[in-house]
Amino acid sequence: MSSGRTVVIGGGITGLATAWLLRHGVDGAGGAGEVTLLEAGDRLGGKIASRGIEGVTVDVGADAFLARRPEGERLARRLGLGDDLVAPATGQVWLWVRGRLRPLPTGTVLGVPADLRSVARSGVLSPAGLVRAALEPVLPRRRGRGGDRSVADAVGRRFGRDVTDVLVEPLLGGVYAGRADRLSLEAAAPAVASADRSRSLRTGVRAHRRRVADDDRPVFLTVEGGLRRLVDALAAGIDDVRTGATVVALEPRDGGGADVVLTGGERVAADAVVLTVPAFAAAPLVEALAPTAGRLLAGIPYASVAVVTAAYPAEVAEVVPRGSGMLVPPREGRLVKAVTWSSRKWPHLAGGDRFLLRASVGRIDDERWRDLDDDELVARVSGELAAATGIGTAPVTTLVTRWERSLPQYEVGHLRRVRDVRDAIRVRAPWLHVAGAAYDGVGLAPCIAQAEAVAARLNARG
Ligand SMILES: Cc1cc2nc3c(=O)[nH]c(=O)nc-3n(C[C@H](O)[C@H](O)[C@H](O)COP(=O)(O)OP(=O)(O)OC[C@H]3O[C@@H](n4cnc5c(N)ncnc54)[C@H](O)[C@@H]3O)c2cc1C
Repeated sequence: MSSGRTVVIGGGITGLATAWLLRHGVDGAGGAGEVTLLEAGDRLGGKIASRGIEGVTVDVGADAFLARRPEGERLARRLGLGDDLVAPATGQVWLWVRGRLRPLPTGTVLGVPADLRSVARSGVLSPAGLVRAALEPVLPRRRGRGGDRSVADAVGRRFGRDVTDVLVEPLLGGVYAGRADRLSLEAAAPAVASADRSRSLRTGVRAHRRRVADDDRPVFLTVEGGLRRLVDALAAGIDDVRTGATVVALEPRDGGGADVVLTGGERVAADAVVLTVPAFAAAPLVEALAPTAGRLLAGIPYASVAVVTAAYPAEVAEVVPRGSGMLVPPREGRLVKAVTWSSRKWPHLAGGDRFLLRASVGRIDDERWRDLDDDELVARVSGELAAATGIGTAPVTTLVTRWERSLPQYEVGHLRRVRDVRDAIRVRAPWLHVAGAAYDGVGLAPCIAQAEAVAARLNARG
């Protein structure tokens, strides 16, 4: 096939990065062919959105990318944002457990402890939970189990229910807004899955911690001025970007490739199509081409979440504990699941006459926040913040951002599902490629990695 025109559908990080890398090359060697990017909404960025509050710009969607893998930083540097990358000033996190903030034990992998002394010192587990967790290395291994299983199944069997509920659930809640008893060990917690192949899960987690102990890179990075700058820089490097362009069908052409059909009937001819929209939006487009793939995509559930950004008077800094924020295990029954002390975590948001906090609510099994209007939501969230930290004053300004159906759930069997989707598409519509948060990682860095993979493949057509 000649390089021709590639149409990228979806203007989130995956679509933008794919289109940019098609144009500029994955390794800087220069891309091939024409690229058009089609975005249904009136703005680009998808789950990246930056807004102003009290004179500063904050991210109200994704607010940082993983820096222990290279893709996010590499792209930001290629876009000329290298000097504006910011690392967190502190990484210490609290757990709001049994009415008190207690330190999240150090040395865990997704909450699975390598060192029970740190767990004991933190006071997050009950004495009974601690004794149960200590039994892990001597419990018999269940050998010969093939296939995927839930994170709760793997961790709960070894360490007991308390470790899952108090340590693992809040971390999974932070990344996926998901539940440990439904999320896939292999897809949602690959480091734990690989540790689980060790003599004991604790031994495996220890080995993993030792491997990463010498890595002095920051865990996360963000861009001063907001991740919107990443979006703008990507868009500026793509010749043909269209917003308000909703794709309603993909129709194969006789000689190969497809017509991409927009609302209103306009057709854009494509030699290759890269579909980077959420699974529920991809499903109807794919169903007509590869029914099995369409059905599998429709079966990926999405959690809805909301982010409340609150600017408090600067004096609040004297009350808010040190560290970068807190997580709340679901079994505590609170509305808030995670709070970042933004003005403490991010150096560029420190100082000034306001103290910024960012609270998230919502999980796949907790949609209570959807019944609240913005004022009620702010009141509930600031009430819980006051109870957790002792802040005795109301926020001066708040921003509420609702993200409906925003986080795909990698449920048990996810890797198999994604393989089957891609296999079915390869056979029925070889010109079509799928990438994005629904497939090989929900974070910005894995989305960029997928963009690199698709762009490298398409650029290699020559
Ligand atoms: C509140 C929140 C906080 C997060 N925080 C972080 C974080 O700090 N770090 C991190 O790494 N990750 C974070 N994530 C996850 C990460 O932001 C997302 O998974 C990622 O941005 C998704 O990118 P994407 O390109 O796959 O999809 P999206 O961003 O969903 O983009 C898909 C785009 O496709 C468009 N579209 C849909 N249907 C059509 C159609 N028919 N035609 C044309 N266009 C269409 C949509 O309008 C959308 O713009 C967060 C997610 C949320 C919701």
